This record gives sequence, C-alpha cells and structure tokens, in this order.
Amino acid sequence: MTIKSNLVVYNTLTRKKEKFEALNPPFVGFYVCGPTVYSDVHLGNCRTFISFDLIYRYLLHLGYKVRYVRNITDAGHLEGDRDEGDDKFSKKARLEQLEPMEIVQSYTLGFHHVMRAFNTLPPNIEPTATGHICEQIEMAKEIIKNGYAYEVNGTVYFDVDKYTKTHHYGELTNRKLEDLLENTRELSGQDEKRGRLDFALWIKAKPEHLMKWLSPWGWGFPGWHLECSAMSTKYLGETFDIHGGGMDLQATHHTNEIAQSQASHHTAPAKYWLHTNMLTVNGVRMSKSAGNGFLPQELFTGNHSLLEKGYDPMVVRFFMMQTHYRSTLDFSNEALQAAERGFARLMNALKTLYKLKNGTHSSINVEKLIASFYTAMDDDFNSPILIANLFEAVRIINLIHDGKETINQTDLEKLQTTMKTFVNEVLGLFDQKENNNDGKALETAMSLIIEQRLEAKNRKDFATSDKIRDTLSSGGIIIKDTKEGTTWQLES
Ligand code: AMP
Ligand code: ZN
Repeated sequence: MTIKSNLVVYNTLTRKKEKFEALNPPFVGFYVCGPTVYSDVHLGNCRTFISFDLIYRYLLHLGYKVRYVRNITDAGHLEGDRDEGDDKFSKKARLEQLEPMEIVQSYTLGFHHVMRAFNTLPPNIEPTATGHICEQIEMAKEIIKNGYAYEVNGTVYFDVDKYTKTHHYGELTNRKLEDLLENTRELSGQDEKRGRLDFALWIKAKPEHLMKWLSPWGWGFPGWHLECSAMSTKYLGETFDIHGGGMDLQATHHTNEIAQSQASHHTAPAKYWLHTNMLTVNGVRMSKSAGNGFLPQELFTGNHSLLEKGYDPMVVRFFMMQTHYRSTLDFSNEALQAAERGFARLMNALKTLYKLKNGTHSSINVEKLIASFYTAMDDDFNSPILIANLFEAVRIINLIHDGKETINQTDLEKLQTTMKTFVNEVLGLFDQKENNNDGKALETAMSLIIEQRLEAKNRKDFATSDKIRDTLSSGGIIIKDTKEGTTWQLES
C-alpha cells in the first residue's frame, strides 16, 4: 500500500532534503535515542523528544503505520562518552545510597510524567538496556566473529582502524579520519585499546561495580552505543526507516551505531537520520554540566532564578513548535511571553471558528489555506511555517466573525476539521483551560456575569454594565457585543 504524500525530510547522512519513501509502506520503523535515566530530564532533552513527537504525529496523520521505538538508557552510559569514568547510575546510586535500579525507576517515572505534561504520544515500544543484555552480548560476539572487535582483559573493543579499511567511519558527520583523530587523546601505555577511536562494546566490571552481568568475557556491562544497535535491530529489523536523536549524538553515539550494524550484519541501520538542534540559554547549550539546565517543573511553576513567571506546558510546547527542529532555539522570558500571547490567540480563534455562522458563498480560498498547512509540514516538518499559516487562518476567521468575509457551509466544516486536526493532533496543542476544572469554572462564572450585565443593560443601568466590562477588561477578559450575543475571550 502506498501513502500519498509529498513529505521531504532532511537526511543528516546525505546532507540534503530527500523525498520520504518508506522501505515497506505503509509501515515505518522509527527509532529515537531515549533519555539516560540517572537524573531529571531538563528542558533541552524535552525539546528533542517533543520534536520527535511532532514528527511521529505527522507521519501518523499521513496514514503511515509507525512503530515508534524510544529506548530508556538504564545501563552502560559512562560519565565520559569515550568509555571513561564510572557509570552514571552507579555513581548516583552511591551518592544517594540507593540501588541503581531505584534511581532508574524514579527517573523513568519522572520522565514519563513530564512527557505526559507536554502531551507527547508514548512510543509503541520503550525498551531498556538492562532488559536486552543478551541481545547486546550476541551482537558483540557477532562483531568479534566478523573481525571488527577484539577482547582485552574482559573488555571488548570495536576496532575502528580495521573498520575504516572497508567503510567510511565518519560518514554521518562527513568527517575524515584525520579530523576525528584530532579530537581524541593520544593512547598511553596504560590503555588497553589499540586505536584512539576504538570504543568499548562490553566493559569489564571492577569488583565494586554495582551493575554487572556475566558474559563470555567475564562479569561486565555493555558499552552505551551497543544498546541502541541491539534494540533497534530486535524491534525494527536490520535496516529501518528513520533513526533520530539530538545533534550532539551524531559524532560519537550514532557514528558508532552505524559501525556496529555494518560490522555485525553488513547493512546500514537506518535509511534516514534525523537530528534535532539544541535548546540554548543565552546562546549556550542547555545541559546539566553548564548549570543552565532547568527542569520542566521549574518552568511550569516559575520557581527558578532565570524565570519571571510560570508557563503552561502547552505554551512551552507551542514555543518550541515556533522554531524548526533543526534550528537552535534560544530560551528567554520574552520569547515565552510572546508564545503565551500567540498560543492564546490561536486557541481563541479555534473557539471562534466553531461559533461562526456560514453564509451562502465563500469569499476566501479555504482549499489554498489548507494546502499551505500540508506544504509546510511536508517540507521537513516545518512547524514555524505551519504556525504562520495557521495564523493566516486566524486572521481570516476573525474577519469572518466581524462580517468582513464570508464562508459557505462546506468550507466552514472543512476549515473546522482541518484546523482542529493540525492544532490538536499534529502540533499536539490543546487548550488546557477547557480540559480542566478551572476552565469549566471560569466558563460558568463568565456566563453568569454576562447574564448580569445583560440584565443591567436591559434596565438601562449602564453604569453597572460598563463597570462589569471595564473590570473584566482590567483582569484580561475582553467581552464583545455581537449580533449573536455577548462573547468573551482572554486577552491575547
Ligand atoms: P541524554 O539523557 O543525555 O541521553 O539525552 C537525551 C536526549 O536529549 C538526546 O537525544 C540528546 O541529544 C538530547 N539533548 C541533550 N541536551 C539537549 C539540548 N540542550 N537541547 C536539545 N536536545 C538535547
Ligand atoms: Zn542511542
């Protein structure tokens, strides 16, 4: 079955935009590197997962049957990306005097909670590294058998030198071997590995190490890169459609994933590699180590020195969608406040859209408007352009509402369905006020107030009716008298 779509995606591997052709339509295999659950996810991590949520949602909207796999890294991720230091879970477990799996459990639950707050769809499979130790051992064995890895004293290293004889190791980032070598340190006499770029597939555990498993090479634990290769192969096959992750994963983690797949089953793991750009604060990448990584909860409550106030998760999601996933997104209070106003305008317009009365003919071109939504998203998931086009629709909705344009019934229904689909289902945005008790309570209070004002007007008590209007207005609630009655909306 083919899916009719004009979707074009930017493939990091080829460094160009390519028409998206699923390997086995209508199915799409989609793998995204998940979080390392040794601490809370910061807003930067969230940006990456929210971006892939948009991509997932649009693929579903186009009719693809997507198997979305996003792993949980709960073992093997060392402090240094190149096999140095303690593993992040054991270190935290020692510090907090907990079992490593207590650390893993607590931060996995926290991650799920945050993902729900941002209205991201859960992946179809969320495999863990600790649940796939056998698969990782098997893959390491296969790579050794094929001559691309060697064991030294209980640790198994991938032989990058050997690999480069037949493959282009720096293919993903388009870097020559010499350039890659420049970023590594010289080997000392103490090093077990043979080449500076060699990386561990399996690491021997020291006796005090908390997370370890028995392997053909003794007690140890998997290297970080191996888990994604083993799990993506298990659930999506040797070659699948899309592999995603943050841009910071390209040079090491994803480069090594490609090498592992090639060395074990002689195929590239993914057809398209998609990478999200970083969330920055004053131009500096948000990260725990830079000390600028605030937590989603802090953002929701406003409880952080960098924040002037708290923001609704949907406003934060809208803020992120206003920037293309491949551009950096700089965090600022001003930008968030602007997003808050934009989001309210969009939500108000959606409400207005459902209250519009149709005419006999359309003075506007609805087909063209709807086509512009698809053109934006088909162009490598260009959500900022989509939002700009949705705002063009907002402008038109308000003109129809004010009687300056007209729309016939068919067009009105089409616009209602499509706007709702793109805002709620594709962008994943909804008006939280309408979905919680606060919203319902406000709605009830406002109908009562509007009724009281109408009664005041009917008895020609204009002092009271004006006072009601002005007081509401000073509190950010704007009321409008129209032919159909009085409407209200929050100030945008
Ligand atoms: P980690 O939990 O460190 O394995 O990271 C989870 C995901 O978040 C990875 O795909 C990273 O590339 C991504 N990530 C980390 N920092 C940022 C940031 N500042 N902006 C966007 N994505 C990030
Ligand atoms: Zn990964």
